[in-house]
Amino acid sequence: MTDRPLTLMAVHAHPDDEATGTGGVLARYAAEGIRTVLVTCTDGACGDGPGGVKPGEEGHDPAAVAAMRRQELKASCEVLEVDHLEMLDYADSGMMGWAANDAPGSFWTTPVDEAAARLAELMRTYRPDVVVTYDENGFYGHPDHIQANRITSRALELVGATPKVYWTTAPRSMMARFGEVMRELGGDWEEPGAEESEMPEIGLPDEEITTWVDTTGFGGQKFDALAAHASQGENIFFLKMGKEKFTELMGVETFVRVQDTTDAPLPEDDLFAGLR
Ligand SMILES: [Zn+2]
Repeated sequence: MTDRPLTLMAVHAHPDDEATGTGGVLARYAAEGIRTVLVTCTDGACGDGPGGVKPGEEGHDPAAVAAMRRQELKASCEVLEVDHLEMLDYADSGMMGWAANDAPGSFWTTPVDEAAARLAELMRTYRPDVVVTYDENGFYGHPDHIQANRITSRALELVGATPKVYWTTAPRSMMARFGEVMRELGGDWEEPGAEESEMPEIGLPDEEITTWVDTTGFGGQKFDALAAHASQGENIFFLKMGKEKFTELMGVETFVRVQDTTDAPLPEDDLFAGLR
């Protein structure tokens, strides 16, 4: 019917976001013969350095961090059997309010049209049937995640009809369970007592989620992809859970369908429903 394989494109901000947010769907759809393309927008230079050195601390060398994270990203892509990795290589903008936000070359200060034109070129090359990125708040407000949403939205306008577009999200029911596991493992997720009020800020009520994809069969790959990014402190918490608990907690990936030409009924359990 078509002259090319069905294609999934995931647009992420930093090396490691592909594993936490979409590791399950990348692995599952690769296993189903769907071509997978990962676009990573930044170099991740504001991440932890070798030996856990935090940005701003002495010995944090952004170039060395970027080089290390590029290798980790390649390893993660091998685990997830990503067919094509495309790096836009903008400078990591750091968390909201950091000086890195406005540093020359930061993703956050790059004009949306400029970065979107590059992404649109990749969309013309790969012609994805399904595009996945973050919501307008970048899920949790990180400037690079917000910018990934903006350039993706603009690139989609530039290339015209893409059959299905999704934003990643997390169900509130899962966030609550996540908080419990955090406390069980002694993670410093938030100050005690803050969880109930803080957690509902991110994710969505379950009934607003349109798409629930079961990726429990790929939990091991998702875990191993995240393990490839073990240099990043925030990932170590997930790894502490062990594969089984991690898969139980993170085995279903959820999305909101924001663009669709297939009329596949909702809720759906497959990003490619209506396309095959
Ligand atoms: Zn990120």
